[in-house]
Amino acid sequence: MVVVMRPGAAPDEVDAVVARVQAAGGSAFISRGVQRTIVGLVGDVVAFQGLNLRAMPGVGEVVRVSKPYKLVSRENHPDASTITVGPAGNVHIGPDTFVLIAGPCAVETREQTFEAATMARDAGATMLRGGAYKPRTSPYAFQGLGLRGLEILAEARELTGLPVVTEVVDPADVKQVAEHADMLQIGTRNMQNFPLLQAVGSVSKPVLLKRGLTATYEEWLMAAEYIAQRGNLDIVLCERGIRTFETAVRNTLDVSAVPMVHALSHLPVVVDPSHSAGKRELVVPLARAAMAAGADAIMVDVHADPTAALCDGPQALYGEALDELAEACRLLPALLGRTTPGSARA
Ligand code: PEP
Ligand code: MN
Repeated sequence: MVVVMRPGAAPDEVDAVVARVQAAGGSAFISRGVQRTIVGLVGDVVAFQGLNLRAMPGVGEVVRVSKPYKLVSRENHPDASTITVGPAGNVHIGPDTFVLIAGPCAVETREQTFEAATMARDAGATMLRGGAYKPRTSPYAFQGLGLRGLEILAEARELTGLPVVTEVVDPADVKQVAEHADMLQIGTRNMQNFPLLQAVGSVSKPVLLKRGLTATYEEWLMAAEYIAQRGNLDIVLCERGIRTFETAVRNTLDVSAVPMVHALSHLPVVVDPSHSAGKRELVVPLARAAMAAGADAIMVDVHADPTAALCDGPQALYGEALDELAEACRLLPALLGRTTPGSARA
């Protein structure tokens, strides 16, 4: 941390800053420039934040130089992490692989889920998605099947062999969801639900953490830090589009998030083009862009009959669009040096 004094700050104002830092157990190094004096602080940044240095006479600015997140930062962990998912431990999300995660937005019925799960597997997905607990913007919208939905997902895993990622919305449900699923999803609307983040940080299942609708990279990584701080470092970050002034798309996919967050953190980055676009015809182009930007996985909605879907039908893939996505997943990541399930078999 660096304290930048105002031009013309008096020597006793500088000394007061130094004394306050030293009283808190830190060290302070003074550097006198022509215009300004700068005080460099060494020690516990969290303790310094409580000193209210900004309000002291003569202080211009207090600038933090190290990242506020530690466990998830690239700074403290230079190698990219690979997260292993599933009972067989055969799904790896990280820098050398590419993973397609697909499935229905919501588990509606057993039949609908099995159909979507089969479509996902046939398209080359190695993980199944599906919501049993749905965090809906409207209280009048379909809220998900809850426990029954988790049971259906577990059956779909048996049927397809694909590990399951599903959302948890309440800390009280974390244990139950962790018993049924292979990976826990924290949705956009819950990115800063701190008790929920702490609860998933205390279980031994990997977590997929979606970016909040208006979250900065730092806020997103601080949310990941909440999970890591409780002992669970098996975290995958998911960019799913952010809220901007544009109304033609459901959300604006922030492609920069992929290389930028890779630079800031060692955690893998997944892109969800379905919830970004909100429109089927945009899903494949956005998925291609995400792959080109270096996404470690793509997560998409599929549905056998989107017109009858209880949730997010307009963005669900089927037929030709799903075939196109499967083709892109076979070809593009391999060009970028990643192993896909198809290329691993070859
Ligand atoms: C979802 O993936 O089902 C979902 C609700 O997404 P988001 O939290 O990104 O809106
Ligand atoms: Mn959805």
